Amino acid sequence: MTQIEYKFSEDFAKKMDAEDPMKGFRDRFFFPQVNGKEAIYFCGNSLGLQPKSVKSYLDKELDNWAKLGVDGHFHGENAWYHIRQKSKPALAEIVGAHTHEVVAMNNLTSNLHFLMVSFYQPTKKRNKIIVEAGAFPSDMYMLESQVKFHGLDPDEVIVELNPREGEHTLRTEDILREIENQGDSLALVNMAGIQYYTGQLFDIKSITEAAHNQGAYAGFDLAHAAGNARLKLHEWNVDFATWCSYKYMNSGPGNVSGIFVHERFADRPDLPRFAGWWGYDEGQRFLMEKGFIPMHGADGWQVANSNVLALAAHQASLDIFQEAGIENLRAKSEKLTGYLAFLIEQIGGKSGILEIITPNNPAERGCQLSLHIHRGGKAVFDEWYSQGVVGDWRNPNVIRLAPTPLYNSFLDVYRFGLILEQSLKKFA
Ligand SMILES: *Cc1c(COP(=O)(O)O)cnc(C)c1O
Repeated sequence: MTQIEYKFSEDFAKKMDAEDPMKGFRDRFFFPQVNGKEAIYFCGNSLGLQPKSVKSYLDKELDNWAKLGVDGHFHGENAWYHIRQKSKPALAEIVGAHTHEVVAMNNLTSNLHFLMVSFYQPTKKRNKIIVEAGAFPSDMYMLESQVKFHGLDPDEVIVELNPREGEHTLRTEDILREIENQGDSLALVNMAGIQYYTGQLFDIKSITEAAHNQGAYAGFDLAHAAGNARLKLHEWNVDFATWCSYKYMNSGPGNVSGIFVHERFADRPDLPRFAGWWGYDEGQRFLMEKGFIPMHGADGWQVANSNVLALAAHQASLDIFQEAGIENLRAKSEKLTGYLAFLIEQIGGKSGILEIITPNNPAERGCQLSLHIHRGGKAVFDEWYSQGVVGDWRNPNVIRLAPTPLYNSFLDVYRFGLILEQSLKKFA
């Protein structure tokens, strides 16, 4: 990427917007209001904005249901029986996979549990799981309960990786060393792709390779990475992954998750799994016979029939991603987040009030920046919010700001800079 000479000026921000090939996408989303004004919405890491097209996608399925009733499963343009196929090309592109390696289903935490059934088979000797310390709570509860389910002690089996003293994020070399140290006691590395609290993007490729060198599996929670970072799950040989669609994928609150299972497991009926009829061989499903025969690829992990209305909203957003192109989005994202980092450093760097803890290297982060608040605590966040900035506060002392390339502008970032400048005077 060519170095940009960022400036804290409205003219500069407007010029960047004018030159932005992605600028047209902003109008495709609804922006919420805060205190009667359009928000500066930097919270796509938590809930992406609603594409204006969602309603029409939902209406179409409601019409099909009204007109066709049960026949909607096999008739009409989007026959529900095969509806999962529709999202595959976009999902495959977003995570860097083949279409048969991905499928949209269930919710994120549920999928983590289902995938653990297949990829965490502890033995007396090989039972350790490596995870980053301070993982998202749901992931911690998932791991803890999975380990207990196998009759093991979470304190003995789960190995948490902490940053070095005085550092905020993990060094890849330290992650790789710990994987090697665990050797043949290691069953699984199960980390985030992007860490929700620090915004650090892990080196998924190297971590996967290191895990495989020890004979362990590598699986990733991509809640914050999908639709945000460049991902090449197939090429990187990742064993499995799962994500949610409501953060950077703008598919609506609590909407459907997706999974990736590498194609080397596509025809492995011997792998343990908790099965349901939607994972059963599609051609023979309605014979309603005993004896589970899994479908080829990720589809064989499906449990229940597709949530058609949820998938409709998901599709509205995925079609926008297809149109924009994940590479184009990432190219803009690096500039946009680079601008935010520049303004925070220039305006607040010496204030002693805040500090960016997300890695400075664009290759080690997505669009989110996490700020440690050293003085003022949550009052700083509340002050920004009152001025229309929607980010989020995470205990004990972090504000997360995520300018997204689809709907945020350089002017948004500049306007945040003005608010930051004013607010720092209050907390000086
Ligand atoms: C957002 C998020 C979740 C949420 O899980 P749901 O099952 O979708 O409620 C889980 N893990 C991580 C890392 C997240 O960022």
